[in-house]
Amino acid sequence: MSKPICYSTKAYSATGATAPLGPTSIERRQPTPTDVQIQIQYCGVCHSDLHFARNEWGFTQYPAVPGHEIVGKVTAIGSGVKKFKVGETVGVGCLIDSCRTCPNCRSGLEQYCDLGMAGGTYGGTDKYFGTPTLGGYAQSIVVTEDFVLRIPANLDLAATAPLLCAGITTYSPLRHWKVGPGHTVGIVGLGGLGHMGVKFAKAFGAHVVLFTTSPGKAADAKRLGAHEVVVSTDAAQMAARAGTCDFILDAVSAAHDLNAYLNLLKRDGHMVLVGAPPEPAPVASFPLIMRRRSLSGSLIGGLPETQEMLDFCGQHGITCDIEMIRMDGINTAYERMLKSDVKYRFVIDLATLT
Ligand SMILES: [Zn+2]
Ligand SMILES: [Zn+2]
Repeated sequence: MSKPICYSTKAYSATGATAPLGPTSIERRQPTPTDVQIQIQYCGVCHSDLHFARNEWGFTQYPAVPGHEIVGKVTAIGSGVKKFKVGETVGVGCLIDSCRTCPNCRSGLEQYCDLGMAGGTYGGTDKYFGTPTLGGYAQSIVVTEDFVLRIPANLDLAATAPLLCAGITTYSPLRHWKVGPGHTVGIVGLGGLGHMGVKFAKAFGAHVVLFTTSPGKAADAKRLGAHEVVVSTDAAQMAARAGTCDFILDAVSAAHDLNAYLNLLKRDGHMVLVGAPPEPAPVASFPLIMRRRSLSGSLIGGLPETQEMLDFCGQHGITCDIEMIRMDGINTAYERMLKSDVKYRFVIDLATLT
């Protein structure tokens, strides 16, 4: 494959695991015939960005540019692009490519591509240059049209950005396990992921129980759609819930005890992990075998389901609850995110990257 011509764009990068993020300039390819060039207006701040910038998963190469909750305007298209026009509002999530040929890709489940996360928006491998892909903390990005998404026009654009990761990460498992009316659904943790889990589970018609370590979050959880709130550090409240949930979405990104939650499932209930703490967690056999319960994981969603989720959000007026920050506020935002001091997602206004 011949290497395309490049242009430079302003970005924010980490230069090492302990270095704060700072301004830089990066190279993007000029659009090839199948590419869409996007001027990034907003980019959400995912907990994965922080894990990645600080090399907490062990595969980060520097300089690293995080960001995979990207929305903006199309500024140029390649000669063969069919789906998008210049000026249109579009989104890019956690994937910018995949092999397109493995059974998972052919099923529209590109997130489970046999090549792993090689097509990741950041930390993947750029197929033109062989270098690590660079994410959305930047003024511009170029993505093949098959991995660009349409954004419903009626939604607030900044509050739409986190749907591209936090939204699809919670939407996909709730859909896969067919959560709906008559189900009692537990959502563990009221952060960036959890607050979207509450909104989607409510929209799908389930009875939603929010589990949190923070009693102070109860009123907000109910505002977001939870029918009940359980303080997970209160042993009596947890014991009263044993065997009551059909499904549990565990959205916690820090180390915590899974067994306490498995015990809350009914017979044949499913618990799904969507947070990604760096440390392994011990799982006891007893809570699983006693009621044929199962424990699974789920990774974002494929391109067809991500578009379905965005369209569903457009129809139901669902967006994320966000706090807008300037690009130079990212290091402070990371520190606040570690203290769960955000309601519920930071979004960077890329107009402040000058
Ligand atoms: Zn993410
Ligand atoms: Zn594949």
